[in-house]
Parts: sequence; structure tokens; C-alpha cells
Amino acid sequence: MNDINPLVHQHADIREAVRDVCRAFDSAYWQEVEASSGYPEAFVHALTQAGWLAALIPEEFGGGGASLTEASVILEEINRSGANSGACHAQMYTMGTLLRHGSPEQKRAYLPLIASGELRLQSFAVTEPTTGTDTTRTKTFAEKRGDRYIVNGQKVWISRVQHSDLMLLLARTTPLSRITKKTEGLSVFLVDVRKSLEGGLTVRPIRNMVNHETNEVFFDNVEVPAENLVGEEGKGFSYILDGMNAERILIAAECVGDGYWFIDRARTYASERIVFDRPIGQNQGIQFPIAQAYANVRAADLMRYEAARLFDAEQPCGAEANMAKLLAADA
Ligand SMILES: Cc1cc2nc3c(=O)[nH]c(=O)nc-3n(C[C@H](O)[C@H](O)[C@H](O)COP(=O)(O)OP(=O)(O)OC[C@H]3O[C@@H](n4cnc5c(N)ncnc54)[C@H](O)[C@@H]3O)c2cc1C
Repeated sequence: MNDINPLVHQHADIREAVRDVCRAFDSAYWQEVEASSGYPEAFVHALTQAGWLAALIPEEFGGGGASLTEASVILEEINRSGANSGACHAQMYTMGTLLRHGSPEQKRAYLPLIASGELRLQSFAVTEPTTGTDTTRTKTFAEKRGDRYIVNGQKVWISRVQHSDLMLLLARTTPLSRITKKTEGLSVFLVDVRKSLEGGLTVRPIRNMVNHETNEVFFDNVEVPAENLVGEEGKGFSYILDGMNAERILIAAECVGDGYWFIDRARTYASERIVFDRPIGQNQGIQFPIAQAYANVRAADLMRYEAARLFDAEQPCGAEANMAKLLAADA
């Protein structure tokens, strides 16, 4: 494999197979999706069929049994091809919460269906209008009544709800006034979106500038079976933080893929565009910013691999995951 990324030989088999799927979705396809503010349904379907969106699911449940490092290579390659993983990447990073904290029954019930593409777990509901960054002030409340929880509240900026069957929801289960540590009393639920839409869930799309499908979501006495609680009641904050590290590493890898794609395009144009009888790429004024961008992407890429290595080793990786995303987004 010949590429401007010198690490392209790592996981070459994954890269080549992902590039094969992406090749069918060219620039014209993505421009049409963008122009019509559409959802890349055919692309997401093709990725699912090829098994890439189930990469993190263990093989016993029909998935690929990949590490987070390998999953990050998949998303990097999608964006490296000029495609946009944003339409479906949450299926990868929400998966960690279910894999690490879900019960054996939940794994048996959901993972094979997610792996086969019958169910999509692409929605992740944490942010609220009055509690953005300060997640511990989450107001959406899930009250236990017998064998179910009754959920009331509001979320905002919740992406891909219209293209997801399941939603991972963070809600308070013990009021802030009744706990000593504010990170406690929050719980994670697996919500059946389709069923809930018939029972108190309202989804209102938010128009935004980057064709990223996102929504306001209202819960009005939505019933969630108690068996859909993920892990222990009251411990959801730490599960979500763990999931956010995976999200940061995976999105850093997407940014790295974007970076190599943009640099490749810039390099090609600089060598093809002739002014004063020579390519503009012969001028240092053109070379320097491309070289700077390349150095930034390479540095971010190294931090992404370090963060992914720590995550896979189940070692603390919060700082590295944050730095990887910061460096990669800037690059
Ligand atoms: C396109 C899009 C898609 C999204 N998709 C999802 C989704 O699928 N699911 C979901 O749950 N959320 C989603 N979000 C929400 C996103 O994660 C939030 O925007 C984020 O959590 C920040 O919340 P906020 O916008 O309310 O910012 P605020 O909390 O209002 O913060 C505003 C600014 O102040 C800074 N700030 C706040 N407090 C401090 C502090 N103590 N020290 C330093 N700086 C501080 C913040 O860093 C930020 O820059 C999405 C957002 C967008 C724009």
C-alpha cells in the first residue's frame, strides 16, 4: 500500500478491505447526500453488511472481536477515502458501554441483532439544554416503579435518533439533593426508540450547517423496562466517561483520516496547477503550510495510537484520549 501515511502498513488488511467498500461511494455520492441534506443510507448499509460497524462486538455474538485500535483504523480509513463516518460512528463508541457493563442477557439479546444490522445502536443521549458540559447536573429523571422506570426530561443535540433503533440514555435515578457525591445517582439505559416513539418520546430535528442529523428529544412518562438498565443503578457516570474516552480516540482517528485526505488533495493540486509555466507546489509559500499540516496530522496520529493502546490495555487513558482528539481536531 503506497500512501502519504507512513503507518499505512499497520493493519493493512483492514485498511484495504475498508477502502474496497468505500470505493463504491465517490465524491459525487457524498456531494449529493450533502446537497439533499440526506442520510448516507446506502453507505451505512454497505458498511454494516461488510461487518465493519460490528467490529467491536465479540465474535461469539456475531461481531469482529476487534480492539479499539483496530476500530480506530476502520474509521480513519472511511474518512481517508473522503467519506464521513459521522453518520454511523456512534455504533462503535456506544458499544463499549454495553460490552463492558451490559448484563449477559442484554448482550445475548442485542449484540447479535446489532452485528447483523437488524438493529442500529447509533444514538447516545447525554446533553441537556441546561446541563451541557456539567453532566452531573443531568435533570432527566428515571423513576423506578415496579419492573420499569418512568423517564421524564429533555435532551438536546442528540444525533442520529432518526436512524437508530436503540438509544443509550443517561438519566438521574437519585435526586442530586439525596446524594453526597454528585457523580453518583446517574444511570444508563438502553432505550427502544421505536417503541418509545409510541409512548411519550418526541424527537424534533435541529437544522445545522454540516448535514449532521441531530435532534431535541423530549421524554414524557416514557416507560423503560428495568431489565434495560445497563450495569448498576447510580454508577452510570463512570460508564459514560469510559465511553467518552473511546469516542475521543475514534473521532481523533477520523480527523487523522480527514487530515491525510485533505493533504493528499492539496499536494495533488499543488503539483497539477501550473502558473508561470511551473506547478505552484514548487513555491515555498505553498509547500510550508502543507508541510506544517502534515506534521500536525502525524503528531496527532501518534497520540491517537498511544491513547488507543492504553484503552485496549484497560489502563487510564483520559488525558491521552483528550489530547489525541484536541491535536487531531486542530490538525
Ligand atoms: C452537531 C452536534 C452533535 C452532537 N451530538 C450529541 C449526541 O449525539 N449526544 C449528546 O449527548 N450530545 C451531543 N452533542 C452535544 C455536545 O456534546 C455538547 O455540545 C457538549 O457536551 C457541550 O455542551 P454545551 O453545548 O451545552 O456547552 P456548555 O456546557 O454551555 O459550554 C459552553 C462552553 O463553555 C466551556 N466551559 C463550560 N464550563 C467550563 C469550565 N468549567 N471550564 C472551562 N470551560 C468551560 C465549554 O468547554 C464550552 O466551550 C452534540 C453537539 C453538536 C454541536
